[in-house]
Amino acid sequence: MSDLVLLGDEAVSQGAIDAGISIAYGYPGTPSTEIIEYLQEWKRKEDHSLVASWCSNEKTAYEAAVAVSMMGKRSLVTMKHVGLNVAADAFMNSIGFTINGGLVLAVADDPGMHSSQNEQDSRYYADFARTVCMEPRNQQEAYEMTKEAFHLSETLHLPVLLKLTTRISHSRAVVKRGPIREKKELNPSRDRHHWTNLPFLSRQNYEVLWQQRTELVTISENSDYNPLIIHPDNTDLAVITTGLAYNYYKEAEKELENKPSHLHISFYPMPEKKIRALAQRAKRVIVIEEGYPYVERFLKGILPLEIQIDGKLNDTIPHLGEINPDICRRALGLPVFEAVRPPIQDLPGRPPQLCRGCPHTDSYKALNKALEEYDHPVVTSDIGCYTLGYFPPHNAIHSCLDMGASVSMARGAAEAGAHPVVGVIGDGTFMHTGIQGLVDMLSAGNRVTLLILDNSITAMTGMQETIVDSSRIVEIVKGCGADPEHIKILKPLPKNLEENTAIIKGEIDYDGVSVIISARECVHITKKRLSKR
Ligand code: SF4
Repeated sequence: MSDLVLLGDEAVSQGAIDAGISIAYGYPGTPSTEIIEYLQEWKRKEDHSLVASWCSNEKTAYEAAVAVSMMGKRSLVTMKHVGLNVAADAFMNSIGFTINGGLVLAVADDPGMHSSQNEQDSRYYADFARTVCMEPRNQQEAYEMTKEAFHLSETLHLPVLLKLTTRISHSRAVVKRGPIREKKELNPSRDRHHWTNLPFLSRQNYEVLWQQRTELVTISENSDYNPLIIHPDNTDLAVITTGLAYNYYKEAEKELENKPSHLHISFYPMPEKKIRALAQRAKRVIVIEEGYPYVERFLKGILPLEIQIDGKLNDTIPHLGEINPDICRRALGLPVFEAVRPPIQDLPGRPPQLCRGCPHTDSYKALNKALEEYDHPVVTSDIGCYTLGYFPPHNAIHSCLDMGASVSMARGAAEAGAHPVVGVIGDGTFMHTGIQGLVDMLSAGNRVTLLILDNSITAMTGMQETIVDSSRIVEIVKGCGADPEHIKILKPLPKNLEENTAIIKGEIDYDGVSVIISARECVHITKKRLSKR
């Protein structure tokens, strides 16, 4: 079988294919998007029976995957780290189920927040749920761990969380494929009590889960993914790495004269015995991990106070951002590499901008014009390209919390007494979690204008098709209970500025919920369409 050059994300996809998955669901989000995209390509070229679908949000994706497992087949679910907050209800509540077909949740974290609103660490979710977390240190391991994760999911009857980070997800390396497993046939679980969260059943299921804890720790202690190397001559220092930090440490280690003992942790729950074996000979332990000080905090709970623990909690490692070779070298007392300076320096900072010709530009121009006469308008916004309306020249939005929050926050602001209040949301985000906020707003009868910026695509994450065609948004809004008299459609074009401004003004004056759909496709789809012609 030929070797492949794959992104970390693609290595997960290939691992899932070779583990015999039948179905994958996901919601796009950087840096996880390429997992489903690779599977969709595989379906197109290699295996038409594979299902690889985007869902309206991460929760629906996870729930659908649980049902695939219940039917006896293997399924993969993908999302970015903040997406797991949306899927958390389903994930946490599925932990007591007795997984049938393997169920693996691949979550890509974004330390450094390249394209995210926080840098939360998904290892906590696995710990919170009391299940296994695996964290690859390179692309080969991303491939192998995915296969292993399916195997573990079926033998332990648990969902397994696979944690990736940006640099693993988005860098390429050669991946050697291994044996391929057959897909599983439809074989529904008939054990209703394994899949029903009634309190009396949940209590039994959680008891089983708790008893399983020892087995999980034993697997972790014996796992080759947690290699421990003891150098008995060094009684001063020991090192623990996780994820990508392994690679940086191994480079730096070559320059250390007296090599410290080293434990790398890729498999959780924590291998406590290995940690104790590492630390018993050392006066000081450095923990080099990306994300939160997860391992470091655990160490503080189990190691004697005399052992000094260095890491994020005492700023030996920066608490924010990605790990890099210099951070690792500095922590080890090695000189950092001389920086290569770009030939031109001191360029002025340039904030990200909406693309030239973007439909959102014309929507924001009309909105700003409509709000000119008010001293304190409130514009709540959401996650997507249109968040860039924060920057000049638009300076149009006052908040962006999470997916769907523009709608619920608009309701809250209106009920607090603000006027005018406009919620700005994209079509994809409206389908993700905006609808529920609209239902709330309509039932409360708030005085709010909801502006749905419909660009007919999920643009920011790489042009994935939206789950519902734009033409159906009006029907959905009507179905939620909006007054058809106050559902308006705009075409955001420079020539329509006056007309669009007048429509927005009119709806702001309306004492109730109005919904304005500002619809024009993203210029990149237009370009693509025209170039195909
Ligand atoms: S990708 Fe499309 S929707 Fe996003 S800013 Fe650019 S033109 Fe606008």
